[in-house]
Amino acid sequence: EYQPGGYHPVSFGDQFHQDRYKVVRKLGWGHFSTVWLAHDKEKNMYVALKIVKSAPRFTQSALEEIKLLEKVKETNKEAVGWNHIAQLLDHFWHQGPNGKHVCMTFEVLGESLLSLMKRFNHRGIPSAMVKRITRQLLLGLDYLHRECGIIHTDIKPENVLLWIPNVQSYLGHPSQPSDNQQQVQQSASSASLLNQTSPGSTKSRKRRVKRRIKKQQARATVSLHEECPLPLEPSLVLPSSVLDILLVHPEALDRVVVKLADLGNACWTSGDYGHVIQTRQYRSPEVIVGARWSERADMWSLACMIFELLTGEFLFDPRGGSKFSKDDDHLAQIIELMQVVPRSLTTLGEYSREFFGKNGQLRNIKKLRYRRLRDVLHDSFLLPPSEADLLSHFLSPMLQVEMEKRRAAKAMLDHQWLCGH
Ligand code: ATP
Ligand code: MG
Ligand code: MG
Repeated sequence: EYQPGGYHPVSFGDQFHQDRYKVVRKLGWGHFSTVWLAHDKEKNMYVALKIVKSAPRFTQSALEEIKLLEKVKETNKEAVGWNHIAQLLDHFWHQGPNGKHVCMTFEVLGESLLSLMKRFNHRGIPSAMVKRITRQLLLGLDYLHRECGIIHTDIKPENVLLWIPNVQSYLGHPSQPSDNQQQVQQSASSASLLNQTSPGSTKSRKRRVKRRIKKQQARATVSLHEECPLPLEPSLVLPSSVLDILLVHPEALDRVVVKLADLGNACWTSGDYGHVIQTRQYRSPEVIVGARWSERADMWSLACMIFELLTGEFLFDPRGGSKFSKDDDHLAQIIELMQVVPRSLTTLGEYSREFFGKNGQLRNIKKLRYRRLRDVLHDSFLLPPSEADLLSHFLSPMLQVEMEKRRAAKAMLDHQWLCGH
């Protein structure tokens, strides 16, 4: 894709914007862009430099992204939610062999929630951590929705990035793990809803944990310097080390900041929209049937994501079959879980008729296996009944099939589930 209209070819040491930004290494890439760690000479700090593909449709969408990001930045810097959206620092044009590219700079953040899930072997992130993440995402979404009038439309683990402020203070001084810390370490690296309920640690297990911590301590410092094309200052923390630091310094968990990133698909709440949004597993029912959608679509995705963070499994993972489509299966799974089929779904969507018959029954899938969320959490993920009840009580308002009944971000913030550990 490094061709005219595509990505801009970048080498380490390349300079941008009248030599203000110098590229140090690669941070990531997406369908629209490549993202680089760059040093900002003027401010003497590091930034994430996003260089967008040059074809007109990518340029158009990037210019829209900038408008939305500027709104987010300017609307209310005092709002608590402001801090939970990845903020735009600067933007400019860059002419290269493949065309003229929109470039944006952002504060440098760490790994995404997807990497965090991988770190727990897709067996679920400890609930105390998920609660902390959820609280911050609700604040970010409330700010985006109410104050900025923006719908993100693509809430999913890879678009949520982690950071630890003043992360430098953790480098080079791995804390000697005390007994207490070892336990946190252990839960931080291998806990899941399943093995949180398994019996306490044995001696050999403790020894293994100790060995692992040693290895991780080594890695946290090493990862700062390896594969590093240009010399880095020792104080610079690479994004990929946030999770390493957490394993070595579990106490830093209290300071993790979570930020919503990638407003590349976002749109205005006041806008005229009807297109399909959201990544499949996080897609809300109104979008599937082609009905009007709103900022509440983000709340649906958020609930799906929280379930996934906790359990390591998708809440909805639809598949197509010979007699039914992926959308049919998706709607069936939603109805099986929420056990309602509102008229808004069966009649108001552009495609409602394709999915539902006259009496509101699914046309292509006849046999439904109802399962309640609390039972799924209890039976499949072994949550104790009281916890399963509380979590299901928390998620259900965000999973209301009828969009009008779905709870807004602000109204979720004082839920009891978020208070506990
Ligand atoms: P998509 O296909 O998801 O729309 P995109 O081209 O719009 O991708 P982003 O999702 O914004 O690009 O960024 C691509 C990747 O770059 C991210 O998944 C992340 O790994 C990395 N990245 C983006 N912004 C930052 C940042 N501020 N700090 C560190 N890494 C970042
Ligand atoms: Mg992305
Ligand atoms: Mg994008």
